[in-house]
Amino acid sequence: MVIGGGLAGMLAAWALRGYAERMVIVERDRYPERPAFRSGVPQARHAHLLLEAGHRALEALMPGVREELTAAGAVRVPISGVRWLSAAGWLATYESEVAFLSCTRPLLDHTVLRRVRGEPTVRWLENTDVVGLLGAPGEVTGVQVRARGDARAQVREVRAELVVDASGRTSSLPSWLTRLGCPPAAEERVDAGVSYVSRLYHRPAGPDPGFPALYLQTKAPDAPRLGVVLPVEDGRWIASVGSMRGAQAEPGAAGFDRQLRLLGGPSTRGVLAGDGADERKSVVTGKAGRHVRVSTIQQAS
Ligand SMILES: Cc1cc2nc3c(=O)[nH]c(=O)nc-3n(C[C@H](O)[C@H](O)[C@H](O)COP(=O)(O)OP(=O)(O)OC[C@H]3O[C@@H](n4cnc5c(N)ncnc54)[C@H](O)[C@@H]3O)c2cc1C
Repeated sequence: MVIGGGLAGMLAAWALRGYAERMVIVERDRYPERPAFRSGVPQARHAHLLLEAGHRALEALMPGVREELTAAGAVRVPISGVRWLSAAGWLATYESEVAFLSCTRPLLDHTVLRRVRGEPTVRWLENTDVVGLLGAPGEVTGVQVRARGDARAQVREVRAELVVDASGRTSSLPSWLTRLGCPPAAEERVDAGVSYVSRLYHRPAGPDPGFPALYLQTKAPDAPRLGVVLPVEDGRWIASVGSMRGAQAEPGAAGFDRQLRLLGGPSTRGVLAGDGADERKSVVTGKAGRHVRVSTIQQAS
């Protein structure tokens, strides 16, 4: 039984093939038919990349997946070419075989989903919330599920020999365990107040901006902003601007533009705004969103 069918949940089920006779993934959302945003993964609107170790691990689990991703438009970016402004200044360019894979989260998640959908031992309960656990303090024996968002719907019990919680940062696991009679888990909340605004742009065929990706790191507290511009499928850039508490962007396109101006860096503006030099750099999708990231570190007492 896997709670949450995000990347971690789907990969957990995939990794358990051969160990479990039957698996059930319970997912709150209904998956889109094509790579598309869904509300259960709100961070998917922002820039994501798979670092070398990440795409190697994914490939080891699902041979051929990197080829599928690149065939669908994911871009292999050698780290040596990234234009990278660290707190200490621009990083030197150097020879390296290390590369990251860059594509939107919807494409990555959909590629993995397609693979897991083909696994006959996995059953799916979509549009369904897990609302609690079954069992006792010493043993979890299943989960309670209910149709999504309907507090009056009937709660059903689904028994399982192994339960994996992959419901992400909104996990209710600590309170579910307390309801089973476990002592409350110690919780430490670290909230740096980071928020992001992101937008997709056309990537023009030319002229070449001189680098495959751009990363402007924060230098808090003096420069509490960061920016990343990555090439993604369908000939686009995804640009995300992040800021620390007190420097957050107002939502919408105006907020994005203002953050970009405050971030500075002629290269960012040159690539995205085009300085009027290249009409083809027009904005295709105004996906300005806002996300506050809260890291929660939990320890069982
Ligand atoms: C702005 C930003 C940028 C990032 N960039 C990167 C990056 O470049 N590279 C990288 O590796 N990581 C990056 N991350 C981190 C990455 O997004 C997460 O680590 C990853 O998505 C976690 O996956 P997950 O499957 O554990 O959880 P989630 O993606 O949160 O998925 C949880 C799933 O569980 C479902 N769910 C939740 N509760 C229930 C319930 N009660 N019942 C049923 N279903 C439920 C949700 O609908 C969802 O599908 C970034 C994060 C942010 C915020």
